Amino acid sequence: MTATQPSAGRLRLIIAVLVLAGACSATAGVPIVSEQTPTPAQPTRPPTATPDPAIGDDADPTPTPTQTPDSSIDVGLVAPDFAGMVTATGVPVAVLTGTADGFLVRTPCGNQELISGGEPIESATVVIDPGHGGPVDTGAVGPTGLVERDINLTLSLALESELADRGIPAALTRTGDYPVLLSVRAAFADQLGAELMVSIHHNSPIGDPSDTPGTEVFVQSGSDSSARLGGLLYEEVTAALATFDLAWTAAPDAGVLRVLLPDGNDAYGMIRRPITPTALVELGYLANPAEAALFATDEYIDVASSALADAIEAHLVTDRPGTGFGNPPRMFRPDRAPGADLCDEPLLE
Ligand SMILES: [Zn+2]
Repeated sequence: MTATQPSAGRLRLIIAVLVLAGACSATAGVPIVSEQTPTPAQPTRPPTATPDPAIGDDADPTPTPTQTPDSSIDVGLVAPDFAGMVTATGVPVAVLTGTADGFLVRTPCGNQELISGGEPIESATVVIDPGHGGPVDTGAVGPTGLVERDINLTLSLALESELADRGIPAALTRTGDYPVLLSVRAAFADQLGAELMVSIHHNSPIGDPSDTPGTEVFVQSGSDSSARLGGLLYEEVTAALATFDLAWTAAPDAGVLRVLLPDGNDAYGMIRRPITPTALVELGYLANPAEAALFATDEYIDVASSALADAIEAHLVTDRPGTGFGNPPRMFRPDRAPGADLCDEPLLE
């Protein structure tokens, strides 16, 4: 697919990035400490359209879905009966509106582009977000060279397939090795009207030696649905990974967690931004050689994708609460990650 190749000459957005996905702190360079005195949860989250370029997120050039398109391409609007599509190059995009000449879509870098067509996304109960993507935002890199960006995508594709086998329609925020802004990922799930979104990551730096997996699941303050999703993900993933006899690593407060800014709002962009109930799961530590070796196996992908699907299905069809609760929130110390990031648009057609 040419979708993985940046198109030369297209608009390059320079985006001040602090923490692309929030977690995976090796790439973020952001220390996180546990807070001894829990901060009360915020009853509501701020509007997701509010850009916060100073803290833990990318800039937000994303138009809202209802924004009037550029008059230069307004050649007769045709309201499509679907909210997203997969372009000819395999890139999932939100459809802003239809025109006589095609569809105005939101690109992975948050621009508007008119495309001639694609495969409609008729329904997506679940949005799967493979963390990171592209040549700059690799995420964590393991001791054997395994790159988080890639293992996240491999696992996400396996999860999509597993959910399809169970009759649960799902869509991915990215399908290849290209960058997608956090704002675009969040808006994609919201526009599709998904019931939930799961952002998939693998952690670094290395944790402390542990007899049990150090899975961490970050959830949204003020959302019971997000908290229950996080609890189910923690319960199913840790149970599945514990079947592997491994020298695990973990943080002392591994479990279901909230990470807060000093003002009490959720710190991570993929948690703060979506209206869709969302959880971000760090399944294990890519920085740990033993775990990195496991993550590179097909068996891991099979076991982990089944566990994630079990959690998602349980959220959809049961009232189970999940496990892993009780930790105080972590406090996020804003700090700039080194350098700035570039968002090179993939080819859409
Ligand atoms: Zn990550």
